[in-house]
Amino acid sequence: MLGMKRGASSGDAWDEGVVKLLIVEDEKKIAAFVRKGLEAQGFVVEVANHGDEGFLLATTRPYDVAILDIMLPGKDGLSILRNLRDRKSPLPVILLTARSELNERLEGLNLGADDYLTKPFHIEELTARIHAVTRRAAGTSQSILAVADLKMNLLTRKVTRGGPAIELTAREFSLLEHLMRSPGRVLTRVEICERVWDYNFDPGTNLVEVYIQRLRKKVDGDFPKKLIETIRGVGYCIKADA
Ligand code: CA
Repeated sequence: MLGMKRGASSGDAWDEGVVKLLIVEDEKKIAAFVRKGLEAQGFVVEVANHGDEGFLLATTRPYDVAILDIMLPGKDGLSILRNLRDRKSPLPVILLTARSELNERLEGLNLGADDYLTKPFHIEELTARIHAVTRRAAGTSQSILAVADLKMNLLTRKVTRGGPAIELTAREFSLLEHLMRSPGRVLTRVEICERVWDYNFDPGTNLVEVYIQRLRKKVDGDFPKKLIETIRGVGYCIKADA
């Protein structure tokens, strides 16, 4: 069954930067859980529960990354990968493997898988692998975002300001990433909810404010120059020329 759901509002400039994922996983609970988690990170996600359908989608639709389970009805994950590489498809592939599937994992890497993840895994781990794989595919030019002395490495997920590393949760990282991708541009609360939490409405709570406060503490802290700005009644932005 093919499921589609929007990951970001269509028609705005953001769409160009949205990463489109194909998940081929026959265990529907896992597929649903992974989809939900990845959509919350701002990815556009499509799911196939059958290997043949997965292969068809992978060869006919423009994904940025395919996440393939190995044991599948129809074409198994390794066959999908092999057939993609036979066709010279450059589509980055992350394999989901069971702990016992060591041989399959090695075979997968030999066949040209870009990475693998052993089940069970945290969504944050998968997200980090997806980011790493897409950056690698796009070259390294886009792997570092910088605003003043604040730097974010999208490959290593490391954030620093003037030297020392700043520890961020996945959600805080995502929020900061969205601010840093367009310095000087004000993001409304609704936009932030949509991109960071995948709510397409303002939940009317102070969720965003709470996260902005946490980010401020970590990013601006004692620095005399404050980078995160509140535009009263509108939203938030990170200063372009601080
Ligand atoms: Ca399976």
